[in-house]
Amino acid sequence: MPDDHKSKKQPGEFELIARLCAGLPQSSRTILGPGDDCAVLAPSRRPQLLTIDSMVESVHFNLEWLSAQQLGARALTVNLSDIAAMGGTPHTCVVNLGIRAGLDAAFFDRLYRGLRQAAQAAAVDIVGGNITRSGQLTLTVALLGDVTGQALRRDTARIGDEIFVTGTLGDSALGWRILAGEIKAEGTARKYLVGRFIAPAARLLQGQELARMRPAPAAIDISDGLLGDLGHILERSRVGAEVDLAALPRSRHYVTVAGDRLEMALSGGEDYELLFCLRPGHSEEALSRRLGVPVRRIGLIVERRRGLKLRGPDGRLLAAAAMRGWDQLANGAAQLRK
Ligand SMILES: [Mg+2]
Repeated sequence: MPDDHKSKKQPGEFELIARLCAGLPQSSRTILGPGDDCAVLAPSRRPQLLTIDSMVESVHFNLEWLSAQQLGARALTVNLSDIAAMGGTPHTCVVNLGIRAGLDAAFFDRLYRGLRQAAQAAAVDIVGGNITRSGQLTLTVALLGDVTGQALRRDTARIGDEIFVTGTLGDSALGWRILAGEIKAEGTARKYLVGRFIAPAARLLQGQELARMRPAPAAIDISDGLLGDLGHILERSRVGAEVDLAALPRSRHYVTVAGDRLEMALSGGEDYELLFCLRPGHSEEALSRRLGVPVRRIGLIVERRRGLKLRGPDGRLLAAAAMRGWDQLANGAAQLRK
């Protein structure tokens, strides 16, 4: 029967989007919210930041790994992290859902509950949505933010800058490998690492605090893995870097599961921590206090011709690409994402 999919309570697209957008809270910034051809936003004096990111089923996530609500929240968080990396404050988003057969209206209600809660927590208005039929479930969020003063950019790192990261690295990458059954872990270590993958936090307050510093640090959020994202800064700033392997911040749960192996911390991805480059003279302690999270100094910006080097525990410098196993791991991570 041609209309068979309708009789199975697959919600109609218009009906579903109207239902999901009903009663979304709006701030005074939003003059006209969902329901028209466009949303209407009040003008702003500040520079506006605009970013977009998609999460695609079986590329970025698997519905057996996380609930609809967690998925909704995560789709916003990965965008919040990009605003954090610029030192901005997020304020408005629109959402596109690519929906496949087999998911009912209750699933999308839960998904939007998670999205709405994450939006409220970050003071973001959801001002519009769109639904398309798709082979895989896809969530795309476009997010607007603004920035007071100077945005944190990738192209402003200078020779002599010290490289810092917030939090710990590699937890999320271990988390999804645990969920995928590639790595075994039990108890609190499993719970912590999986939690870091399922419900990452965007470092918004930390980014905003960094944007108050002068000169404004070069910064990026670590979504593709430390080496990849540091590589973006080096490329855009036309500089090189030395990273001290012994300084890479790893959680105790990371160490429990991965021991001395550093691959996940170096190139695992989806950490959503901030990496930033500062003129010398800032201690880890003072920065940790200022940003309200542990901050670790992991290296130094050097001349471009020296490329990206990793300093081993014995003090020797290795070219990053020559690290054994790094390329395979980087390819593995790329496969999951692309
Ligand atoms: Mg980013």
